[in-house]
Amino acid sequence: MARVVVLGGGIAGHTAALHLTRMLKRSDEVVVVTPNSNWNWIPSNIWVGVGKMKTDQVTFKLGPIYKRKGIEFHQALATAIHPEGGPQRPGPYIDVIYTDPARAGEHGELDYDYLVNATGPKLNFGATPGLGPDGHSYSVCTAGHAVDASAALQAAIQRMKKGERQVLVVGMGHGTCTCEGAAFEYAFNVEHEVRQAGVRDLADIVYLTNEYELGDFGVDGLTFTQQGFQTTSKLWTESLFRERGIRAITGAHVMSVEEGVVHYEQLDGSANSLFFDFAMLLPPFRGVDLHAYDADGADITDELFAPNGFMKVDADYSGKPFEEWRAEDWPSTYQVPRFPKIFAVGIAFAPPHQISRPRKSPSGTVISPSPPRTGMPSGIMGKLAATNIAEMIKHGDSAQIRTASMADMAAACVASAGSGLRQGSAASMTMYPVVPDLVKYPNTGRSLEDTFGEIGLSGHWIKLLLHYMFIYKGKARPGWHLIPE
Ligand SMILES: Cc1cc2nc3c(=O)[nH]c(=O)nc-3n(C[C@H](O)[C@H](O)[C@H](O)COP(=O)(O)OP(=O)(O)OC[C@H]3O[C@@H](n4cnc5c(N)ncnc54)[C@H](O)[C@@H]3O)c2cc1C
Repeated sequence: MARVVVLGGGIAGHTAALHLTRMLKRSDEVVVVTPNSNWNWIPSNIWVGVGKMKTDQVTFKLGPIYKRKGIEFHQALATAIHPEGGPQRPGPYIDVIYTDPARAGEHGELDYDYLVNATGPKLNFGATPGLGPDGHSYSVCTAGHAVDASAALQAAIQRMKKGERQVLVVGMGHGTCTCEGAAFEYAFNVEHEVRQAGVRDLADIVYLTNEYELGDFGVDGLTFTQQGFQTTSKLWTESLFRERGIRAITGAHVMSVEEGVVHYEQLDGSANSLFFDFAMLLPPFRGVDLHAYDADGADITDELFAPNGFMKVDADYSGKPFEEWRAEDWPSTYQVPRFPKIFAVGIAFAPPHQISRPRKSPSGTVISPSPPRTGMPSGIMGKLAATNIAEMIKHGDSAQIRTASMADMAAACVASAGSGLRQGSAASMTMYPVVPDLVKYPNTGRSLEDTFGEIGLSGHWIKLLLHYMFIYKGKARPGWHLIPE
């Protein structure tokens, strides 16, 4: 009998846990530790953030699904990992603090044979004074944040209906943010909503980003084919913004946010302020502050985690210069080298280097997007960890370990506005691979046949279809495992 503990019931962790239930024997145990009682299809929070969907359309309760699938569920936060056991406890275990209202604040210890760290990001609003829901800007990172953003946006629309001009700022709340695709999509949606409300002429919509140029998306931009012609994500995104009258401020690090004003520094060294009536600014991400201890109780957090709090796995963390990194520096099994029964998947693993060229302002402020780890790669990594754990349980040392590097993985980004079947449009991009491989694809680092973009209603339908498919899959309805990650 083996016991697999999954930390995090998000896209990567929930995918891993569900696959484990069908890959392992009945006598094996699958345990999920996650602080929220609900699962959230985060990509659709964008639609909640403009009032086009309700919270219950993008979330559902995990408890009943885990009961049906025989998964042991602990609504709790993992706080520490003891991969060698500890002075009082022989085998590997984790520390948790319960968030379940019935046991809130209670401390617990859970044994494991295999551990999947899928704890995603800590939403690091604290990195920028005044940023976020406890400060002066909104977010769409959780369904709750998105509900508040929608209410504030509607209030701005009401003011415009009374004839007041409004400045609506959407973008990144720090120079090192990732997830530019989400902010881009939200900007698209805000513009759509304002136009639908008949007040477009009274809205100044500003996209404030840490990207050096539009279309970078944290992946150093894309060269792709559109209707048989080669173009770049820069040209494409600039034209989308121009058509919609959205003004972009690029290369910006938000220094602080005050009531109605954001202060930012730019790559040219200038310091500027922008007054706003509504601002949705995403936070930078870091790891979730897990600690690690060896058998004697000595702190080994620095060995297992990078300074940004993400877990170090089978990647090259030597920190060589940007120009020298290679596709193979990226992890492919997501195992912790010293403890191969620990996997870190989704946003929880530490990327070995930037994909976007690192840039600093003259005063040394880092202003460049961190590498994105979007939903599709996160789901693929979750399934990969489950597959390899099942293989290790069955075959021990002779297990055939499978690989899935982001340098050999595709990702799709569909920035869709509107939410009905007829009223919507989307800018859809697919890239392969996510991490450029300049040896395989010497010109751009990516396959031109498999990297493409389209604009139109069909992309919007795909996004809607994905929404319903992934909610269906997340609920583990019949045939769920046939839906690809
Ligand atoms: C607004 C927005 C829109 C997006 N849109 C898209 C899109 O259109 N397409 C796309 O591909 N990607 C999109 N993404 C990115 C996508 O949501 C992420 O790639 C994905 O959620 C990452 O999966 P994950 O499992 O690593 O993290 P998450 O899904 O965030 O899951 C992490 C889980 O770990 C839990 N957790 C946190 N701390 C602990 C702890 N200490 N112990 C135990 N559990 C813990 C969390 O509560 C959460 O349940 C979007 C992201 C945002 C913010």
